[in-house]
Parts: sequence; C-alpha cells; structure tokens
Amino acid sequence: MIPFNKPYMTGRELSQIAQAHANGHLSGDGPFTKRCHAWLETSTRASKALLTHSCTAALEICALLLDLQPGDEVIMPSYTFVSTANAFVLRGAVPVFVDIREDTINLDECQIEAAITPRTKAICVVHYAGVACEMDAIMDIAQRYGLKVVEDAAQGIMSTYRGHPLGTIGDLGALSFHETKNIIAGEGGALLCRDPDLAERAEIIREKGTNRSLFFRGQVDKYTWVDIGSSFLPGEITAAFLAAQMDAADDITSRRMALWNRYHTWAASHEEARRLRRPIVPAHCTHNAHMYYLLLPSLKARTAFIDSLKKAGVQSVFHYIPLHTSPAGLRYSRAHGDLPVTRGISDRLVRMPLWIGLEDVFQQVIDAADGALL
Ligand SMILES: *Cc1c(COP(=O)(O)O)cnc(C)c1O
Repeated sequence: MIPFNKPYMTGRELSQIAQAHANGHLSGDGPFTKRCHAWLETSTRASKALLTHSCTAALEICALLLDLQPGDEVIMPSYTFVSTANAFVLRGAVPVFVDIREDTINLDECQIEAAITPRTKAICVVHYAGVACEMDAIMDIAQRYGLKVVEDAAQGIMSTYRGHPLGTIGDLGALSFHETKNIIAGEGGALLCRDPDLAERAEIIREKGTNRSLFFRGQVDKYTWVDIGSSFLPGEITAAFLAAQMDAADDITSRRMALWNRYHTWAASHEEARRLRRPIVPAHCTHNAHMYYLLLPSLKARTAFIDSLKKAGVQSVFHYIPLHTSPAGLRYSRAHGDLPVTRGISDRLVRMPLWIGLEDVFQQVIDAADGALL
C-alpha cells in the first residue's frame, strides 16, 4: 500500500540528537532551541519566535495572550482542525464559525463583518494547504473593529502572502512541526509574535508563568511567578531533530513542489473534462506544496474514488468534519449562517499522498487515480 504520508528524514537528525546528548542540556531552551528560534526569526522576519511542543500549544498561548473572558467570541472557519477552536474554548471563549471561499477554501473575508458582535475579540484565520487567506482585507476589518488577528499557520511554513511569510501578518502566528507537516519534529510547533510587548508576555506564559527567560538573559535579578502560564516548550532532543529539518527546508520545499506540480499537470485534463477541480493558488500567494487535494463532484464520487484508489494500493484521505456539526462544536461554538461552502467542500475534498520519496511510485498513484476517474 502506498501510504498517504511518510515522514521525511534528512539523514542529519540522529547526529544532531547525538550532539544534544553530548551537550548535556536536555530540557528546553538550550543551544538547539536557540538555533531553531534564530532560523525562524531569520526566515520569517518575526520579531520573536518561540518553539512549543505543538501548534496546538502555540494556539493555546495565543488564547492566553488575548486575555479572553468567558463568552468572548473568536471568528474562525469551521473547516479546520479541532485545535483552532479548542485553544479558545479552553479559555471559555466561543468560536463563531464563518463560511469559507470556494476557491482557496480559506475563511471568506466578505462574511466576517456580519458575524462581528460586541463580544467579538479576535479573528483566527487558517491558511489551508499553505495558501494564504486574504490578509489585507482581514487586517483592515480587524483594525476597524479593534480585533486581534491570530494566524493558524500550522500548514503554512515557507509560504507567503504578498511577500510576507505566513504567521507574521496578524498579531500572532502558530506553526506546526507535526510529522504530517512539511518541516517536522515528530510533535512540535512555534509561536510567532509581531509585537514585542506580546512577545515578552508570551515568553512568560510559555515558561510556566515565570520570568525565567528574562532572568537567564540577566534582565531581572531573580526569577519568580509573574503571570498565568504552563509548560509549553519542547526539550532539546526535539529541537535537535527540528534543527536538521530546518537546515534542509529549501530542499524539502522544492522536492514537495515538484510532486505538487506533477499532480497539477496530471489533473488538468480531468479538470477540463469536469471530473474534478484542482487547487487554486492566487497570483499574490506563494505556497509550500503542503498538500495536493482534489475536489470531486459529490460525496458519492469521492467515496468511490477513495475506494478505487485503495483497491489499486494507494491510500488517500479526506478531512475535515465541519467543527460546527461535531458533538463538541455543537456544545461550545456557534455557526454564523448555514456554511454551505464548508459542507460542500467537506463532502467533496480528497487529499492525495504527498511525501518525499513518492517520486519512485508516482506513476502507480496516477494510474490508480486515472483508473478511478475514467
Ligand atoms: C496540524 C494542524 C494543527 C495542529 O498542529 P499540532 O502541531 O499537531 O498541534 C492545527 N491547525 C491546523 C490547521 C493544522 O493543520
């Protein structure tokens, strides 16, 4: 069976881990974590990058930084991973789901204003498949209504919107290094901060609510409990693994892009014959080839497609069950309208295998997909 995902190793991870072992610093914020922070700050130009043990953790820090009170509302898409919503629900806030655009499958910026109420405190965008939301329009709305903007850029490392790296346009951004993402650490993530004031508090929240980071830099003479917080930082073994991946980030992206382009070229004739729709990337966005998905005409067609691929030895998957229709979503959140595009996309989208090494069996995938469509 050709798997849907296979984590890529650069070959340098184990020697970096051996180095972390030799350094004798195994908890967080050692030399490898500093290297990862420097890489992130250089490549994204964020004023502060902080490694976390997951993107989920980075989103939880965002929710703490926003000082959300029970009943405060956060506008977001329903078509996303659960962590986008959970991070805010943990603070007692209410996710308010807005529909997505048919083309990029991202939050529909034209529907945000109508969902704003006196309780709205923030907008949390999700850059689906590493393709940016319409950030100019979204930042304009946020400014006019005094809202904060959090970017769930879990899928967005190495992607840009009008030249700006994803995760650095809003007030706060969250990246993921989960093994299903492009640059991986097993489990891992990062918080990107644009505003230095938020960054200082983020450091404290990430370090169990203490000013330990300031203490280590000699900026305060004792370290103590100064705010609420938790333990959000990864250990050095994880950071060492991640550092090896970051060193290879350009290579990883271009190899994924080559596969993405092969899918895109292959799918063109099927799109012309109206058997499917291909991903759409606006001209002002560069993407990172995080995902290749197809939109089939119906739920029935998608089910048949996935079954047919499976019989031909190729694993493909679908996601997401819209959060507003899920059991926890019904309890903790609210939808603004019927979200027809969300429902339609959720029924029709299928993700194709995309991992470095797939080159060797790519023809088998294409043959299986041709067989399923024709
Ligand atoms: C993967 C993902 C997450 C969660 O990332 P973790 O690092 O596993 O916590 C959150 N949001 C989106 C959109 C994702 O794709």
